Amino acid sequence: MKKKSLPIIILAVLGTLLFLSIYNAMGFQAQPAQTHDENAVAELATSQVTRSEDESGEEQTSEEFVQMTEDDHGRAEEYDHPIHLTFDDGPNAATPAILNELKKYYYKATFFMLEPQMKQYPDLVKRIVNEGHAVGLHGVTHVVDTFYGSEEVALQEMLDTQDTLYDLTGVKSTLVRTPYGSIPYFTDSFRALFDEHELKLWDWNVDSEDWKGGDYLNNVTTQIKKVEENGQIPTIVMHDKEKTADQLSDLLNYLSKHEFTPVKIYEDDEPINFKCNDRCSYRN
Ligand SMILES: [Zn+2]
Repeated sequence: MKKKSLPIIILAVLGTLLFLSIYNAMGFQAQPAQTHDENAVAELATSQVTRSEDESGEEQTSEEFVQMTEDDHGRAEEYDHPIHLTFDDGPNAATPAILNELKKYYYKATFFMLEPQMKQYPDLVKRIVNEGHAVGLHGVTHVVDTFYGSEEVALQEMLDTQDTLYDLTGVKSTLVRTPYGSIPYFTDSFRALFDEHELKLWDWNVDSEDWKGGDYLNNVTTQIKKVEENGQIPTIVMHDKEKTADQLSDLLNYLSKHEFTPVKIYEDDEPINFKCNDRCSYRN
């Protein structure tokens, strides 16, 4: 190597380094930019989670924290603190906000839907399914005297709802939640007929009382701890409504912070049913 070429090489190296540092400083990267919405949402969720952990001041290692991913459709048994979020009475105008919040964390929920609502908002039913949530049946009329008027009426409402859901999405759901839950109206004769048709009744063990329209967060958080202590998976009843959607961000942030993982209900999960407490023979 000739002596006079050395300064030229040094200049060339320095020039390249300077160029690269300016290039990086301007935000250019060798990898393609993440333009997909899902990635943007994932980044948002991660930054929220990180911030909330910092604020909590609690000791948490990265091993303990469960970070959901886009493809995460995990079952309850895969997590230390699984939880079921269920939304009744939709779909309706509040559903997109609920879905958007869930998507930030890749959490999965279960929607027990009314047949007329599904007919009114078919695209939302499809969106719920496309985003990996579970769908269940909540009937047609939601009127106590009609639905529980006879075993056959109750069954027919659920089968009609099942058909409409199938027509819209190709999903044949056997998950059912009867209006206002099974107690006191859903007596043994109703139960026997539903069993015959392999419909799986799901009540809940955490009542958010979101239908009252107030702050439901404390209500939920105090109950889920007790339910877990009793060895059950917390199954929270909520409603597909605006006030519920408004506070959902706070609830999901709490769950994330406390290592609860919302998972959807699977057809072969063991259902939560109310204990009778002497009310099962109400109509007998
Ligand atoms: Zn309902």
